[in-house]
Amino acid sequence: MPSNKRKALTDAAFPVSFLIFLFSFILFTISCSREDPVIKETYVMGTKASITIYGMNREKALDAAGKALHELHRLESIMSTWNPESEISQLNSNTGEKHFTLSAELSELIRLSIQFSEITKGAFDITARPLVQLWGFQDGADRLPSESEISNTLKNVGYRKINFNPDINTITLPKGMQIDLAGVAKGYGVDKCAAILKREGVNSALVNLGGNIIAIGSPPGKKGWVVGIRDPRDESKISGYIIIKDEAVATSGNYENFIKRKGKTIGHIIDPVTGRPVSGNTLSVTVISPTATASDALSTALFVLGPMKGITTLKQLTRNNYTGYIAETARRTDRSGRGQYAEVLFIISENNSIKFLKSSNLDGKLILE
Ligand code: ADP
Ligand code: MG
Repeated sequence: MPSNKRKALTDAAFPVSFLIFLFSFILFTISCSREDPVIKETYVMGTKASITIYGMNREKALDAAGKALHELHRLESIMSTWNPESEISQLNSNTGEKHFTLSAELSELIRLSIQFSEITKGAFDITARPLVQLWGFQDGADRLPSESEISNTLKNVGYRKINFNPDINTITLPKGMQIDLAGVAKGYGVDKCAAILKREGVNSALVNLGGNIIAIGSPPGKKGWVVGIRDPRDESKISGYIIIKDEAVATSGNYENFIKRKGKTIGHIIDPVTGRPVSGNTLSVTVISPTATASDALSTALFVLGPMKGITTLKQLTRNNYTGYIAETARRTDRSGRGQYAEVLFIISENNSIKFLKSSNLDGKLILE
């Protein structure tokens, strides 16, 4: 009897284990069809770069990602103000009467940057560097600049003072002026990565360079890439999610990049009009647009402008179908012409809590916690 019982158990156990085997096989098959992405990372432009690719064999995907990341290192070697050999450093040390001949690439980025200054009424300005230095972002002295230092430095700031001829790539920077592309170069690099990946046959990928993100297509079976928006007060928390497909998103804020001087917190984004670091109650600004270049420059500009002026400026831009480059690249990235838009989410602090302010067409793409 006991042996019969054991036999009965054994008989019963076989189909169960077989079912478990079958079930796990099915699960395995499902997870196979969902596929693991290929991810490649590097450290460049002072931050982490990461590329995630679906839908391509591993070797090809790694090769494509490698080429894109290499491009970021190449751009850094031209555009970093930390590297005295870079082209931008050469330009900054050749100011005065004589003109400087730019590479076509740097010339293009300066041309675009000036357009961003024009459409944001000077809130975005690549000539803000003397102010960034004045406020202590390059030396460690615990002091705040005086009023006269600020007004004197402002004389060396202002994109209109650049003498630039984009047709022949020449530029003359008056003495005392300096150019800093940090507010737009990461986005520009991300757009270049996307172009390389597409050329290599990638049609599902996400490029993330320190929060400057572009989505190519969407992950298999998904309607878009889900990107978390950090709670600006607490890096372990997420304030919301944005779903993007064939578009770019960037967030600007002072919560990661700031210094302390005389007990005051000085954020790294400076208002080029007042000459002072942006204060006010904006904690972060997230911009979605067709290109990472536009999202990067506009998120910096809108951080300066604040929610009221910022949202109005974006509405005007969209109404005017953008100007110059943004329209140009929007058409390039989205041939259907659907791409001429920019949407924004402001996270502001109000009475010890946070409040969200957003432009009207963001709702379908945004999930707030
Ligand atoms: P993040 O996205 O990491 O917050 P940003 O793209 O906003 O960085 O760029 C900020 C950097 O750009 C600063 O560190 C400084 O070098 C430069 N910068 C500061 N203020 C401005 C400004 N108003 N316009 C353009 N560049 C600026
Ligand atoms: Mg920026």
